Amino acid sequence: MADSISKLTKSVHTGSPGDPQYKGVVNPIYPSAAYDYENMPETQYPRYFNTPNQRAVSQKIAALENGEDGLIFSSGLAAIMTSLFAFLKQGDHAILQHDLYGGTFNAVTVEFPRYGIEYTLVDGTKPEEFEKAIRPNTKVIYVETPSNPTLTITDLKAVANIAKRHQLITIIDNTFASPVNQNPIDLGIDVVTHSGTKYIGGHSDLCCGAAVSTAENIRKIWNSAFHFGGSLDAQTCWLVERSLKTIVLRVRQQNENALAIAQWLQQQSSVGKVYYPGLPEHPGHAIAREQMPGGFGGMLSFEVKSDPHGFMGRLKLIKRALSLGGVESTICSPVKTSHSKMSPEERIKINVTDNLVRFSVGIEDAQDLINDIRQALGG
Ligand SMILES: *Cc1c(COP(=O)(O)O)cnc(C)c1O
Repeated sequence: MADSISKLTKSVHTGSPGDPQYKGVVNPIYPSAAYDYENMPETQYPRYFNTPNQRAVSQKIAALENGEDGLIFSSGLAAIMTSLFAFLKQGDHAILQHDLYGGTFNAVTVEFPRYGIEYTLVDGTKPEEFEKAIRPNTKVIYVETPSNPTLTITDLKAVANIAKRHQLITIIDNTFASPVNQNPIDLGIDVVTHSGTKYIGGHSDLCCGAAVSTAENIRKIWNSAFHFGGSLDAQTCWLVERSLKTIVLRVRQQNENALAIAQWLQQQSSVGKVYYPGLPEHPGHAIAREQMPGGFGGMLSFEVKSDPHGFMGRLKLIKRALSLGGVESTICSPVKTSHSKMSPEERIKINVTDNLVRFSVGIEDAQDLINDIRQALGG
């Protein structure tokens, strides 16, 4: 894969050569779970992650992340936990950023102790904290940037350099940025994971995950993946491949909309703090500009000074929903959803107040979205 090929072209063509038999322009769906093994370089089987539709979509995601190879999983958590367990064993230690996606936080804090894996949670905005937490048995550093829901920024180059000095594997959850805006492998991060349920699927209609890295690391992850079994079926792989053909166009529109809406929200007296890495006031703005060359993403959060639930109830276009990254704008209260299990004291520490709402900006017209927010704030 020549790196001179642009992301727009890769999103359409890589892994999508079309139909070899009838010469149609679109890849066929190969639902077979059983394949002839004679004279084949490797045995094909869905749980081996190597059937035609699995390989097609893995190649496309790997190309968009500038990685050598990738794996497509049945969920984001399958990709994340399989990648973590591939590089960790009993007695090892991992360092993770403290403001993790809630599902990842719960999975790590519940499962790691059961398998005798130690961990330390650190402030992702302070790279030196990762270095301070390193122990003789540390194997993995895990980060997530921009983070959920206040969009904090972790300096990926700084973390990658620390990890390289200490020969640690770095894993990132790149879901919020999407492969369009941020390619951590270019910055020295080893393994990129995604909840493909969000921007990669992009239409709020499927669940999948992905991991991208060097061929060697992907082989290591595969060694665990085919045991844990979080593989994805052919039909959904094909849908993901189709979704990825428009990811650059979708995310560019979401970037543009989110910036315009964040700037407008800042001017409103009925709105408190606005969290968006594209705003110069955001503490991570300078680093985000460096490491997110494609844009600042479609996620933003803000405080509604009046009752946030009344506000969300009055929205007409913007739907109240969990999840994110779809073409349709959705909004939610982190206190009632992703951060409901956290104590109020813990929530305040990471700026998750009762008045905070998290907004996943869709591809609609930005002015229509602003008009909807204006009428809901005014009510
Ligand atoms: C949704 C999400 C996940 C989990 O992905 P699933 O597809 O639900 O398993 C992980 N990280 C982030 C940032 C997410 O938004």
